[in-house]
Order: sequence, then structure tokens, then C-alpha cells
Amino acid sequence: MINLIFMAILQVHQFPDPILKKICAPVTDFDSKLNSFVNDFTETLQSHNFCVGLAAPQVGNLQRIIAIDVSRARKPQLGNGLLILINPVILESSNFKFVREGCLSIPDFTANVKRAMKITVQYQEYCRDAPRRVSDKVLETTNFEAHAIQHEMDHLDGILFLDRITNPASDLFRRKRA
Ligand SMILES: [Zn+2]
Repeated sequence: MINLIFMAILQVHQFPDPILKKICAPVTDFDSKLNSFVNDFTETLQSHNFCVGLAAPQVGNLQRIIAIDVSRARKPQLGNGLLILINPVILESSNFKFVREGCLSIPDFTANVKRAMKITVQYQEYCRDAPRRVSDKVLETTNFEAHAIQHEMDHLDGILFLDRITNPASDLFRRKRA
């Protein structure tokens, strides 16, 4: 808690912190406060090796904001680089598969979760150099990026991958520590 005002890297809350179960509110104020949050949020994502996504509630901000960058994966994945999705909504999803996923808020486990491998997501984007300039976007994406967006969007509704496991005996895995 020292130098809180000057710190750019935000603390990531971990399961079972109750903040991870809250439902986030839509962003309505595209102001300089949002801009400085997004800057810290992005820096926080980038401070964790191989972290491909983060949701605002994981750092204690209960607004509908996620950051994705699948090029940061251990095996870098094709995608759109760094994306900041504000108020994201999935319009279409198809091609469901079980995929393995992890979460910064649940560092000791990974799990097999059913996700759509193709989604169309609508969101708002704003220009970080001119914070009040907001535009509506629609993105069609596939595979790892689609999967990561669904994981992060779940956080906005207080859903963790643990909530999506149908059979813990076969689908939950303890992470191997190096
Ligand atoms: Zn997560």
C-alpha cells in the first residue's frame, strides 16, 4: 500500500476473494480516470510473463473492461495484438471445443473448459490519446483469441473457470511448478 498513487502495476486478486464473484457495471464515463486505469491495467497485464488476458475485476475495478493480447502466450498465437474491450457483448458463437485454460487469479490450477472457437464480439473502443473519443467495434475472431475473450468476459459476470468445470476429477489439473 506504499506509494499507491504512483504505482502503475495493480494487485491481482486471487480466488477465493469475493470481489471475483461480483457482477461488473457497464463503463459510462470515458474520462481521464478511465484512461489512467486502462494504462495501469495494460501495464499490469504486461508485467506477468505469458499473460494473455486480464479482466478489470481481477484488479479490483468492477467495470466491464478486459484486456487481451494472445501474442504474449508461451507459444505466441495469431490475433489482433493488444485489445482493450470495453462493454463487450458476444453476438455470435460457434464451433465449441474443450480447451485447457488458466487464470492469474487461480495460479495453482488449469482446467478443461468448453469454449466457442469462433465468436463475434461487439465492444467499445476509445482513443487513449483523446479519451472521450469512443467508437463501436465489431470483431470476428477465432481459436485462442476467441477463447481468451470468453474467459475474460466471464470475469465480468463473476464467473471463474472453476464454475464451468463439469467433472473436477477429469477436468481440473494442478499446475506444475518449475
Ligand atoms: Zn481469469
